[in-house]
Amino acid sequence: MSVLRLAIPSPLRRTFDYLPPEGMSQARVDSLQPGVRLRVPFGSRELTGYLLEVCAESAVEAAALKPALALLDETPLVEPQLLQLCHWAARYYHHPLGEVYGTLFPKRLREGKPQQPPGTPGWQLTARGKGLPEEALPRSARQAQAVGLLRQQARVAGAELKNHGISSAVLRSLQEKRLIEPCMISGHSLFAEARPGLALNDEQAAALQSFTAAGAGFSCHLLEGVTGSGKTEIYLQLIAACLQREQQALVLVPEIGLTPQTLARFEQRFAATIAVLHSGLTDAERYRAWEDARSGAAQIVIGTRSAIFTPLARPGLFIVDEEHDGSYKQQDGFRYSARDVAVKRAQIHDCPILLGSATPSLESIHNAQAGRYRHQQLTRRASSGGMPEIRALDVRKQALQAGLSDTLVAAVEQTLQQGQQVLLFLNRRGYAPTLQCHDCGWIAECRACDARLTVHRRRRRLRCHHCGASAVLHRQCPQCHSERLLAAGLGTEQTEDFLRARFEQWPVHRVDSDSIHGRDAMQALADEVNRGEPCILLGTQMLTKGHHFPAVSLVAVIDADALLFSADFRGEERMAQLLTQVAGRAGRAELAGSVLLQTHYPDHPALVAMLHTSYADQARSLLRQRQAAGLPPAGHLVLLRTDCPNAEYGEQFLQTLRQRCAPHLPAGASLIGPLPSPMQRRAGKYRCQLLLTAPDRRSAQAAAGLLVANAEPLPTRQGLNWSIDVDPLEVF
Ligand code: ADP
Ligand code: ZN
Ligand code: ZN
Repeated sequence: MSVLRLAIPSPLRRTFDYLPPEGMSQARVDSLQPGVRLRVPFGSRELTGYLLEVCAESAVEAAALKPALALLDETPLVEPQLLQLCHWAARYYHHPLGEVYGTLFPKRLREGKPQQPPGTPGWQLTARGKGLPEEALPRSARQAQAVGLLRQQARVAGAELKNHGISSAVLRSLQEKRLIEPCMISGHSLFAEARPGLALNDEQAAALQSFTAAGAGFSCHLLEGVTGSGKTEIYLQLIAACLQREQQALVLVPEIGLTPQTLARFEQRFAATIAVLHSGLTDAERYRAWEDARSGAAQIVIGTRSAIFTPLARPGLFIVDEEHDGSYKQQDGFRYSARDVAVKRAQIHDCPILLGSATPSLESIHNAQAGRYRHQQLTRRASSGGMPEIRALDVRKQALQAGLSDTLVAAVEQTLQQGQQVLLFLNRRGYAPTLQCHDCGWIAECRACDARLTVHRRRRRLRCHHCGASAVLHRQCPQCHSERLLAAGLGTEQTEDFLRARFEQWPVHRVDSDSIHGRDAMQALADEVNRGEPCILLGTQMLTKGHHFPAVSLVAVIDADALLFSADFRGEERMAQLLTQVAGRAGRAELAGSVLLQTHYPDHPALVAMLHTSYADQARSLLRQRQAAGLPPAGHLVLLRTDCPNAEYGEQFLQTLRQRCAPHLPAGASLIGPLPSPMQRRAGKYRCQLLLTAPDRRSAQAAAGLLVANAEPLPTRQGLNWSIDVDPLEVF
């Protein structure tokens, strides 16, 4: 008897056994390869499962085993290394294997539909056909003509051969003589070419040299280069070398970093097929890009987080741009870090990988210091513009108009008058973060979250930025009926109103997720701004990534204080990264540029560090603090979270879990909590967490396994959900 052991997308952390489909011969069963899809009955439904192995026996009683309904693939659609990566990720992140397999496939394949081979059907010469001497050519004129055409073009579409008057009978007889064979034509040339790159400066040349010297096998490189130092130029030259070896390059970019500007740079450099994968694609587009990567038709694959699980025919190079970016970590469901998975994937494929950033994560700096990553630094800008000068602007006792001090207003005016552009950063969208009654003190709060509602004046609504709830903006206080309602605090809409009134003669562009929808809108704006006319850009984090605004010479952070006080242990690292990236928008071209940080705390150590030390030095000092505190990347964290409509039950669940696990924890590991999450109630659910700290990865893994094994059998009443997060990005 043979049993098929399958991974099936389900929250259960186990595999599932089935009998082979009825009527399948034993020889066929024995030849099945791991990774093929099968349709199987699952409860009352039918699902797509993925073959793990063919076994001789099952722990399940033979009579209880059901046969699979159909085999969906002759051979696995993804390479064995990618399956190996899934197994690693499921183990490391303690996530159900079936769900990890599910992330490999685009929707139509997950739904069990057949693969659509890429391209159009055509014909090519066989090895025998290619080697045929002239005198041995078929005597039939049509057959000789067909062979002649295939010698000229390598692959010719069936339709085109028909146009030349070659019938399918002619092709069939050539196929019977084993001179030609059917093939798929991808519609793209298999040959890729790169236009010549820029002449590299010394630092760039050294970085490239170090990468190349490491050879074609696995090695991981951290490229730490200030904004505008020419990291992207290095990526392009590495990709060119990869294409020359006829291998594929996979490039990961942060979610909002994949701009048409970025893509255009790749398209200008390479005459190659580029598959692009991001969250804005339709299912059909995503499938096409996936097939192009899988079949090898695309030589370059660029994508956001989940693109790291794209199958590749001939992988040769991995690049993770802005490797510190938080969008690489999936924050729900399968909570993986695409950067870390990328490093593992490169290792499995035995390929080199490059992590690049102006502000590398402490994790990567730590790995570089420990010798696991090779480290290259670019300390100067590649183009003529120098690094911008950063100054704190003490706003204590100064009058503020929509958050701007007079000094800042004057600086903005001066910049505009000089014909240059201004970028103002305010990381809070809407008009004001709070609506308050002046007479009784009532505050508009979300019914489902422990949070205040944000005033959105343009649409006359109150919105919760945590659960998306939305209500009509009050005219009267619901408590005392007063009409004296105050919009307290600052948001981008409010500052925009002020700027439009104050700088009437210049355009003001607000850039946040309320005003800009989709990549096209952002591109249209970038095109407009990059015509170079003086203007003001006002926006949130959306402005800080992937875009180059060469005519911007003044950057100001309207409320630097908002970044100073974070409960999370990564707060300071994030602030330094964000401010450095914002500052990096200034003076990208010939203009030198200056950066102003408005603050009430000009002496705050984090701010002082920002002004007087480079990110590189700040990061190293933060890393020493983390090491002293045993926090990541020196220590390791795992977070077990619950959410539940019942306030007490989640905490009880974690308390029980803690009691069961505590006696068996590995040495050095400890549990903190259960504690309510900082925003305890969100979207109507009460959230609670148990934090595990461990001195090294091995004990963190052992303890995570212990937590999951003990959590699984616990009853989950009252609509409780629990999840595990290995290497969480946010702890508070
Ligand atoms: P980064 O990715 O580090 O922000 P880029 O690769 O985008 O830097 O380079 C910044 C600017 O400098 C771009 O306009 C780029 O064309 C230019 N540049 C990069 N390398 C060189 C070089 N070696 N010589 C001249 N200009 C360069
Ligand atoms: Zn009131
Ligand atoms: Zn809410």
